[in-house]
Amino acid sequence: MQTDTLRTVGHFINGAMVSDDSKTQPVFNPSTGEISKQVALGGAKTIDEAVAAAKAAFPEWRKTPPLKRARIMFKFKELLEQNADEICRLIGEEHGKISHDAAGELQRGIENVEYACGAPELLKGEHSRNVGPDIDSWSEFHPLGVVAGITPFNFPVMVPLWMFPMAIVCGNTFVLKPSERDPSSTLYLAQLMKEAGLPDGVLNVVNGGKDAVDAILEHKDVQAVSFVGSTPIAEYIYTTATANGKRCQALGGAKNHAIVMPDADLDNVVNSLLGAAFGSSGERCMALSVAVAVGDEIADKMIDALQAAMGKLKFGAYSDKTNDFGPVITAEHKAKVVGHIQSAATQGAKVLVDGTNAAPAGYENGFFVGATLIDGVTKDMSSYQAEIFGPVLQVLRVQTMAEAMQLINDHEYGNGTCIYTRDGEAARYFADNIQVGMVGINIPLPVPVAYQSFGGWKRSLFGDLFMYGPDGVRFFTRRKTITQRWPSSEVRESAQFSMPTLG
Ligand code: NAD
Repeated sequence: MQTDTLRTVGHFINGAMVSDDSKTQPVFNPSTGEISKQVALGGAKTIDEAVAAAKAAFPEWRKTPPLKRARIMFKFKELLEQNADEICRLIGEEHGKISHDAAGELQRGIENVEYACGAPELLKGEHSRNVGPDIDSWSEFHPLGVVAGITPFNFPVMVPLWMFPMAIVCGNTFVLKPSERDPSSTLYLAQLMKEAGLPDGVLNVVNGGKDAVDAILEHKDVQAVSFVGSTPIAEYIYTTATANGKRCQALGGAKNHAIVMPDADLDNVVNSLLGAAFGSSGERCMALSVAVAVGDEIADKMIDALQAAMGKLKFGAYSDKTNDFGPVITAEHKAKVVGHIQSAATQGAKVLVDGTNAAPAGYENGFFVGATLIDGVTKDMSSYQAEIFGPVLQVLRVQTMAEAMQLINDHEYGNGTCIYTRDGEAARYFADNIQVGMVGINIPLPVPVAYQSFGGWKRSLFGDLFMYGPDGVRFFTRRKTITQRWPSSEVRESAQFSMPTLG
């Protein structure tokens, strides 16, 4: 299947591509710095149309047996695999992610589709027989109605796949508002869902920015909002959605620390830090952006080994498979990353490897930042407190594991973390006591698999439930508990004025 090649990326409403007369904004190819397309910026009117389509589709879809809903997901998975090259090309062109990294993103997304294929099992409910004389009781999981997802630029395929397959197999209908910075691969998913047999109106995509988001948050027919993005926006989404009576989960930003203990396997530390800090240009909410070395001896060895290995890293255009990572998303974002590197230097840190003037030959106008290593970072520095979201690894030096853990527990974010050690007792103590939602032990990117659930603590998540997996089923359904007795000649209720008990 070929993708939409219109110059303006529009919306997908009620099973059809539509373009309205709304405003547009440019979409860049970050590898070249050129504008590749425009994206329509939908507002309240477009959201109204999408919600109306989803609302109209809900009664039929709600009644569709979960097995039939799941069969569409099986077909969708097949189409995702058949069209993987095109999806990765679209991700690369607008996000800048190199093709093997885009393939990894797609694969992690497909795993969520596979989990959603288990809908009949996941929605079975809970049954208790004989809770009282001739009384049975059971819980059912009902869809909410029209639900919405708002997603970030950094995983334009995987994060939408965290949301809509599960919401849809649970019997909801969906309005998705992707990132306006790389909208095409997300829109393509909706076209593939239609090809897989999804009835019109069940999945709708509206492109846009704040106006579209606010229209979702205020719409009386939207029952729940699932959000992934930066912390200030996540907090805004959560407070506004819940004030408007909607269920909400809002996942925010991160600052993920790795503790490097003196007994760590140094080769493993260096290899995994390279990928986890610089992969996808550091534009991952699970990127390891801080290494906390316990003791100067391991710190010095780690830095020497990192510097040597960083000299061999290759970055450049998304289309070159030999690159390790690509550009960052926009010129503004590059300026922000560079600003953090410069502020670290001004505030007293040592920039050992400086990627600020990086420009691969032939791609001088691309939004590139080279891999950067900063030593001597302290917790009062603004570059330490902020989420940089670029290929920048900061090193802090402490003398004890307790100090390292205190740093992590004091940080406003609590998304992911990792400890490198050979000491099982230390690792277990760390996992038990660290105030972070996803913990790795010698695993740099502890992203839970699709049948677990994903989320952070502290200001990395607003709401109660994690994303996808079992928590995803709970988020996109509401429980109804039915208690039943059929009166018979033997069992008849007499008037009771005290709270019924078994006695
Ligand atoms: P962002 O917060 O700028 O945008 C996310 C979404 O919110 C987009 O759809 C955008 O259109 C919308 N938005 C932006 N500004 C808005 C405003 N003022 N009002 C209403 N809506 C607005 O995030 P981003 O830059 O696209 O993505 C990167 C961020 O997402 C990072 O902070 C990263 O850590 C985070 N992220 C978190 C997770 C996680 O699971 N916790 C996963 C991926 C990304």
